[in-house]
Amino acid sequence: MISLVEAQEIVIGGCEPVAPVIVDCQQMSGRVVAQDVVATEFIPPFDNTAVDGFAVRAQDVTTAGVELEVLGVIGAGHVASYEIGAGQAARIMTGAPMPQGADAVVMIEDATVLSANRVQINKPARVGEAIRKIGEDVRAGDVVFKTGALINAAGIGVLAGINARKVMSYPKLRVAMLSTGDELVIDGSELKPGQIRESNLTMLSAMIAATGCEVINLGIIEDDEQKLEATLRDVAQRCDAIVTSGGVGQGDFDVVKIVLSRIAEMQWMQMAIKPAKPFAFGKLATSDARVIPIFGLPGNPVSSMISFELLARPALRKMMGHTKNLMRPTVRAIVDAPMKRKQDGKIHFMRVFGEFGDDGRLHVRDTGPQGSHQLASTALANGLALVPDGQGLAIGAEVEVMMLA
Ligand code: AMP
Ligand code: MG
Repeated sequence: MISLVEAQEIVIGGCEPVAPVIVDCQQMSGRVVAQDVVATEFIPPFDNTAVDGFAVRAQDVTTAGVELEVLGVIGAGHVASYEIGAGQAARIMTGAPMPQGADAVVMIEDATVLSANRVQINKPARVGEAIRKIGEDVRAGDVVFKTGALINAAGIGVLAGINARKVMSYPKLRVAMLSTGDELVIDGSELKPGQIRESNLTMLSAMIAATGCEVINLGIIEDDEQKLEATLRDVAQRCDAIVTSGGVGQGDFDVVKIVLSRIAEMQWMQMAIKPAKPFAFGKLATSDARVIPIFGLPGNPVSSMISFELLARPALRKMMGHTKNLMRPTVRAIVDAPMKRKQDGKIHFMRVFGEFGDDGRLHVRDTGPQGSHQLASTALANGLALVPDGQGLAIGAEVEVMMLA
C-alpha cells in the first residue's frame, strides 16, 4: 500500500496543463487565463456620481442652508450641455457623468427641493465627495488578471467592463467516461437476479461537469476486449482524459484491466485509505501525438466518488490551468458524535455533515452507515472527515474535514 500523498504525487504529478486556446470572454466563467490580461480601457470610463443628489461646487457649500439655482437634471448615460457656475447646481442620478464646473455631489437626503429650479443644501460639501473617479476600479494598462487566475462570475463582469473580447485560456477539458460490470443495468428495465442499477455514470458525470469539464458519456461497456479497446482508442482522439469505473481491485481480471494494461502505461495502486483503496492511473498515447491520462476508479459507488474527489478532480483542475486549490479545502472541526473505527493502518474518510456552532467552530457528525457501497449516506454529507488510524474519535475531539460544499 502507498499513502494517499504518494498516490496524489503520481496522479497529479503525472498530468500537465493542456495547450491554451483563444476563448470568447463570455465563455470564461470557471476557466483559468493562460496569459496576463491587460486592460485597454478605464473602469469607470469617466468621473461620475456615486449617489442620486445635486452636483455642486464645494466652494459654494461651505455651510449648511445654502440655496442654489438648479440648471437641470442629468440622468445616467447623458452628458450635461451646461457648466455649473457660482451659486448653481444640477440634479444628478447615480452613474451620470459629472457636469463641468462641479466638484462634489450632495445626496438627495441632505437637500430640500424648494422649487423646480431651487434647492437648499443642508450640509457643507467637500471637494470630491460622492464622486467615483475615472479608473478607480481598473486603469488602462493594469494587469487585471495574471496568468493562472481563475475567472469567476465577477471576473467575466470585469472582462466585459474593459471590453476584453477574447483571451488565451485553458480549454474546457473533454472527459470521456465509461462504466464496466456485467451486473449493471442503466435503461430502467426490470432487474434480473444478480443485477443492480448503475449509479456511477450518473454520479461521475455530475462530478466531471462540476469540475468544469465536458462529459463524453460512453455508457456501460460490456466484457468484450475488442470492443472496449476500439471504444477507448476511438474516444482518445476526441477527448483530453478518460475516467473508467469498476474493475481495478486486486485480483480482478476483467477486461478493463486486460485492455488498459495492453494499450496504456498503467500504474495499479493500493492506497492506505478507506474507502477507495484501489486506483489505476495510466497514460494513453493518441494517434495525434498527445498523451492523455486515464483515471481508473473502483466500482463501489462511494469509493468511486471519493477517489474522484481525491485524485481525478485535482488532476483535471491542474490540466485546466488551476494552480491554486487543486484539492478541496480542509478545516479543523469538532466531533459531535463518536466516530468509531478499527485500527488498520489507513486513513478513514467518513461522510459527515458539518455546521458552524455558536462557538464559531465547525461541528460534524456522520451521516449514516459508512460502507463503500452505501451511497445514500454520502448523498447527505457536505464533508469528509479524515479519521486517523486508531480506535476512532470521541465526542469533543478535533478532526480534519475536507469540505465538499
Ligand atoms: P468492481 O470495482 O468492478 O469490482 O465493483 C465493486 C462493486 O461495485 C461491486 O459490488 C459492483 O457491483 C459495484 N459497482 C461497480 N460499478 C458500479 C456502478 N457503475 N454503479 C453501481 N455499482 C457499481
Ligand atoms: Mg466490476
